[in-house]
Amino acid sequence: MGCCDTPGLMPIETAISKMLESITPISLVVDLALDQAVGHVLSEDIHSPINVPPFDNSAMDGYALRSSDLETATQLPLAGKSFAGIPFEGDWPQGTCIRIMTGAQIPEGCDLVIMQEQAQVIGDDIDFSQALPVKLNQNIRPTGDDIEQGALVLPKGHKLTSRDIPMIATLGIPSVSVFQQPKVAFFSTGDELKPLGTKLKAGEIYDSNRYGIKVMLEKFGCEAIDLGVIPDDKELLKQAFQQAQSQADVVITSGGVSVGEADYTKVILDELGEIGFWKIAMKPGKPFAFGKLLETEERHSALFCGLPGNPVSAVLTLYILVQPLLAKLAGHSQWQPQPSIPAISQTRFKKAPGRTDFQRGIFSITEQGTLEVSTTGNQSSGAFRSMSLANCFVVLEQDRGHVEVGETVHIQMFSPSFY
Ligand code: AMP
Ligand code: MG
Repeated sequence: MGCCDTPGLMPIETAISKMLESITPISLVVDLALDQAVGHVLSEDIHSPINVPPFDNSAMDGYALRSSDLETATQLPLAGKSFAGIPFEGDWPQGTCIRIMTGAQIPEGCDLVIMQEQAQVIGDDIDFSQALPVKLNQNIRPTGDDIEQGALVLPKGHKLTSRDIPMIATLGIPSVSVFQQPKVAFFSTGDELKPLGTKLKAGEIYDSNRYGIKVMLEKFGCEAIDLGVIPDDKELLKQAFQQAQSQADVVITSGGVSVGEADYTKVILDELGEIGFWKIAMKPGKPFAFGKLLETEERHSALFCGLPGNPVSAVLTLYILVQPLLAKLAGHSQWQPQPSIPAISQTRFKKAPGRTDFQRGIFSITEQGTLEVSTTGNQSSGAFRSMSLANCFVVLEQDRGHVEVGETVHIQMFSPSFY
């Protein structure tokens, strides 16, 4: 236990490392067409099969010259053209120049390109006096300048971004080898939860968590299997767990993991697996369950994460605690949490020492370049508006108390999975 740990509460880092210890990354590999591969994790290094660019080419529309010709004349006759895709062919007489376009192959012997804005057409000749003095190799993009043949372009374990797709296309590679995405089955628990689009009766609310969980799982790069809402009924819950386990690598539930109300879940999970009901030193998101649904004759084993039911807590624990686990499972070895950045608080943040608090905030940058942050208001774990309005977490350290205006706090900007 560290200096500031609260007895009975598990520090966030401990929870994450305990979970990570029990994870073996998925080793199944699939080939995907490049245009289907964004968000998937590479299962092998990508080395460039070619030089990029594959040939010396012009960075400008202009004229290709030999620099030695400019030593005796500034006006040279035109000997031909080199256009993108249609290189100059044939002999290039000394003392002449070649019209060249951006991306066109540099003719053999050319050691500089003069942009057309610095050249003047005079009858059949081109005058280059405005371009002097010149530099050797100016406006020439040499072979392999961007990437050399054989160079490592993207490593195994890298999750493909929308920027990587045109990068790989530049190399002429039509499909990539990626790890199979983790299959994650999830359901909400609670008698009070009703489908969207229906009328609520007394005591009922809409099931919002499942919508957040599904979209986030997909952004994490998982195959999300939605098993709906399961009422607080022992037999139905047990069936749901079994169905989820048989279909997925990971089972995620929301609701029913806090002490006292968790009876059904706890009894069922004791039967089906080895599950720890943890109290995490974070706010919101204290009650959290993690473990394994054990292998049976009918079902392979699956990991289990039980998220708290309160909507802010459910999304926060999925983001902070479960995201690293899913990244490891997916083979995304380069995954990192978002960095913490200092910002000046513009509002008061209420906080009691004891847990790390992930308050929802809005950061902005002043004209002077200072990072400032304000609260999104009501920080109750049931008040999801605080999350919807936010563009960052204000991460208040475990032992910290109230934060007054003007104090420095650390903010964590949201990762792409929150957009
Ligand atoms: P529980 O963890 O089941 O005790 O639920 C805690 C709080 O979260 C209660 O107010 C529940 O009504 C609410 N809640 C549980 N599940 C959901 C859900 N899927 N969508 C919205 N609110 C929920
Ligand atoms: Mg409940």
